[in-house]
Amino acid sequence: MLHTTKAAIRQRIDRLRAQINHYRYEYHVLDKSEISDAALDSLKNELFRLELENPELITPDSPTQRVGGKPLAKFIKFRHEIGMYSLYDAFNEQDMRDWQERNMNILDKSPLLRGVPEGRGVFSLEYFIELKVDGLAMSLKYDRGMFAVGATRGDGEIGEDVTQNIRTIESVPLSLRVPESKELEKIGLSSAQAKKLIVAAQSGIIYVRGEVVMTKKIFAKLNKKYAREGKPPLANPRNGAAGSIRQLDPKITAERELDFYSYEILGDIDLSKQSQKREVLKLLGFKVIAENRICEDLEEVFAFYKDIGIKREKLPFEIDGTVVKVNDLSLWDILGMVGKGPRYMMAYKFPAMQVTTRVKNVAWQVGRTGTLTPVAELEAAEVGGVTVTHATLHNMDEINRLGLKIGDTVIIERAGDVIPKVVQVLPKLRIGSEKKITVPKICPMCGGRVERVEGEVAYRCVNLSCYAVTLRGLTHFVSKSAADIEGLGRKIVEQLEQEGLVSDIADFYSLTEGDLKPLERFAEKKAQNIIESINARRVIDLSRFIYGLGIRHIGEETAITLAKKLLAQLKIKNSKLKIKEVINYFGDLSLEDIKEMKDVGPIVAESIFEWWHEKKNQAILEKLEKNGVSLKTEERLAESGKLAGITFVLTGTMAKLTRDEAKDKIRELGGDISESVSKKTDFVVAGLEPGSKLDKARKSGVKILDEEGFLKMING
Ligand code: AMP
Ligand code: ZN
Repeated sequence: MLHTTKAAIRQRIDRLRAQINHYRYEYHVLDKSEISDAALDSLKNELFRLELENPELITPDSPTQRVGGKPLAKFIKFRHEIGMYSLYDAFNEQDMRDWQERNMNILDKSPLLRGVPEGRGVFSLEYFIELKVDGLAMSLKYDRGMFAVGATRGDGEIGEDVTQNIRTIESVPLSLRVPESKELEKIGLSSAQAKKLIVAAQSGIIYVRGEVVMTKKIFAKLNKKYAREGKPPLANPRNGAAGSIRQLDPKITAERELDFYSYEILGDIDLSKQSQKREVLKLLGFKVIAENRICEDLEEVFAFYKDIGIKREKLPFEIDGTVVKVNDLSLWDILGMVGKGPRYMMAYKFPAMQVTTRVKNVAWQVGRTGTLTPVAELEAAEVGGVTVTHATLHNMDEINRLGLKIGDTVIIERAGDVIPKVVQVLPKLRIGSEKKITVPKICPMCGGRVERVEGEVAYRCVNLSCYAVTLRGLTHFVSKSAADIEGLGRKIVEQLEQEGLVSDIADFYSLTEGDLKPLERFAEKKAQNIIESINARRVIDLSRFIYGLGIRHIGEETAITLAKKLLAQLKIKNSKLKIKEVINYFGDLSLEDIKEMKDVGPIVAESIFEWWHEKKNQAILEKLEKNGVSLKTEERLAESGKLAGITFVLTGTMAKLTRDEAKDKIRELGGDISESVSKKTDFVVAGLEPGSKLDKARKSGVKILDEEGFLKMING
C-alpha cells in the first residue's frame, strides 16, 4: 500500500472526495462524463473501503453517504414521498453469498417472521432477478389514474419535475389501464389484493418507477445525424437519455425517441411477491422487461447472470448488470434499509473493464532485440473479473502523452483478452510525492549502456547478449535444481519476460492468475496451475535458493557449502529462515572470510563477494522478501550424520540409484560431496563407465567403492 500513515490516508480520502464530487456533479447535474462510469465506481469503491477501515474519518458530506446528485435549479423541485434509494453493489459470487448470509442472519433472529418456527433458518431465499438497465431513474406519479408528475431521482429525496418531457415518451401511459379482477387473480393476487389495486389505480395515488432509456439503435441513428449536422455526438446512450430529459425543451426530448421500462410500483396496494409487480405493471399498461425471472436460489441467480452476460450485446438497450431482489415482499420490511440503500436488493454488476488503481513503479523490460519497454507495476486491481498487477506502457512517448508519473492514480482498461493498458492519468489526485519517469541510462538488466534508436521512439541496451543473459538467469532460477517451479519451462518464462510481467526472479512471486489469463496460449486452467506451482515454492530450500541466484561459479555443491556455513553461524536447524537473515549474513562477510571457507577458492570467493555487494542484487533480494518468499533448511544440510566429515566423489552410473539420489543420501547422512578428486577426498564411488576421476583416485591412492560397497556403507 502506498498510503499507510493516518495523515496519508486522510489526504487520500480528501483528494478522492473532491474528485468524486467533481465527477458526480458532471454526471448527475450536467449529464456529461470525463471518465467512464466504471472508473468513477472504482474511485467510489476505494473511498468506501478506506472509510470502512477508518470509520473515524467518515463525514456526513462524504459522497459515500449520499444518493445521486443535486436537482438542477432550472426545474421545479419534486419531493419524493417515498425516497428513491441507491443500491449496494456486488461484483462476484462471494459478494452475493455474503449478502445472503447477512440477510439470513437478520431473518433468523427476527421475531416478525411469520410461519417459520422461531425463525430458525430452515427456509432458503427466493429471488426475482432483473436486468439493471443503464438509463435515468424516473418516478411517475398517477393521480386517480392520470399521469400527473414525472420526476428524476435527484438526491433521493428531492428530484426535478420533468413532467413535460416525460409526456413525449410513447411507452409512458398518460392514463392507467384499469385491470379486471379476474386478470389480477390469474397472476396470483387474492381477490382482496386485486380489489385494493383497482381502487388505487382508479381513485388513489400510484407511483411507478423505472428507467428512461435510449435504445442502442436510436443512439446510433442520432449520432449519425449529429455527425452530418456537425453537432457534437452523445457520449453514450445513458447520457443521451439523461441529457434529453433534463433540458427544458420537450421538442428535443421528443426527437430523441426515448423508452421507459418499469420495475417498481408503490401506493396503497398490497402485493406478495416482487415477481407479481411485473405482471401488474403490464396490466396497467407499462413496458416491462421480459428477461426478468424468479430464481429459487443463488445458484440460479449465478446461472442467469452468466447467461445474460453473454446475451447482453443483443439486448436493445444497455445494461450494467442485474438487480437481485428478495422475492417475498413480507421480508422487505424485516430486512429494511441500511445507509443509502435497502438490504433486500443488491445490484449484481458486471465486472468493470475499466478500473482505477495506482502505479507503484515502472519497470523496464528488455526485448529480444535489446529494446527497452516500460511496464507499469500496479497495486493489484480487479478488472474484467481478474486481478492484475501490470499494465503495458509501450514506450516513452506513450508515458509523455499520458503525463504519467510514478505514484499516480490511473484508469486501466482490459479490452478483450489482452494485457491491460493505462488509458488515463488522474493528476488531480496527486499529493506531490509522485516521481518523474525517465529512461534508465544504464540497462536495468545487465548494466550495459542504453541508447536511443535513431529515428525511433525506442531505446535499446547496447549489450547484444543482454536478453539472453536475462532469460538465462530467470530460467536458471526456476529450474529443477533451484527453486524447482513446475510448469515454468523456458518458453513460458520467455513469454512472461516478453510481456513485461517478469524482469527479475522476484517478479515470479507477484504474478496473479489475472496477469496470465490474457496471454496467448494461456487457458484458465494453465494460468491457475502455474500460480499454484509458484505458490508451492514460496518457501525454498536454502541451498537451492543460493544456487538459484545464479552467482557465477556457484554450482550446487558450493551452494550447499555456503548454506551449511550460514546455518552453522545462525545455529538454525530444520526451521524457517528469512531472506533478510541471508542478506545480513553475506553482507557482513569480508572477502577474506569467504576465501577461508572450505571448498571455496579465490575466484569463487571474489564472485560471491561481488555479487553480494551489487545494489541491483540487494534490491532483488529485498523484493523477494517483500513478495513473501522465505527459506527453509533442508534435511540434506544436517551436519550430524554417520557420514559426517567424510567427503565423496561420484563417477559413472549406478544401477539402483541415480546420481542425484546418491548425492541426497550422502548429504542426508551428513557427508560431503566434491566434484573433483583431491587430498580431501575420502572415497570415490565408481559406478559403470566411470570417468577420469577413477584414474585420478587410483593414482593418488584414494579409497574406491563400487555400488555394492557404497550401498552397504549408507544402509548398514
Ligand atoms: P445506483 O445508481 O448504482 O445506486 O443504482 C440504483 C439505480 O439503478 C436506480 O436508481 C435505478 O436507476 C437503476 N436500476 C436499473 N434497473 C433497476 C432495477 N431493475 N431495479 C432497481 N433499480 C434499477
Ligand atoms: Zn542490457
